[in-house]
Amino acid sequence: MTDPNCIFCKIASGQIPSACVFQDETAFAFLDIGPLAEGHVLLIPKEHYQTLDQMPPDVAGRLLRRLPVLVKAAAEVAGAEGVNVLQNNGKAASQEVPHVHFHIIPRRAGDAFRFNWPASKYPPGRMEELAKAIREKL
Ligand code: AMP
Ligand code: ZN
Repeated sequence: MTDPNCIFCKIASGQIPSACVFQDETAFAFLDIGPLAEGHVLLIPKEHYQTLDQMPPDVAGRLLRRLPVLVKAAAEVAGAEGVNVLQNNGKAASQEVPHVHFHIIPRRAGDAFRFNWPASKYPPGRMEELAKAIREKL
């Protein structure tokens, strides 16, 4: 299923041009138009799902099997020393385009990309409580 108003559906179907690097029956990968680094690739499903939790596991599996080779190719072409794979779900998580996508971002030591990673600590017992609650959802 595609969404006629979705920019990534239009890109995956070829209605909007893109710098495509790969496609098969499930997946489409293309260069991000606003790259965080040279060779910044987006991997998307051809079908429209807003967020990762909405994807059927088999579709997610067929999409994600393409990730390793794309990471390798983007890194080699960019001459990268590392790669970040990012995937934002929902506005609160900085998702601008509501169609599932994986950012593949080639990295070099000392490049301009910075994470804000405000790691905190759990109070005693809270980790176990949360792990149990998540286990019970699966
Ligand atoms: P996010 O904030 O995770 O939703 O990321 C959306 C990404 O889509 C941004 O990095 C944009 O630069 C990228 N983007 C938006 N429109 C296009 C387009 N027409 N072609 C390529 N990338 C796009
Ligand atoms: Zn879409």
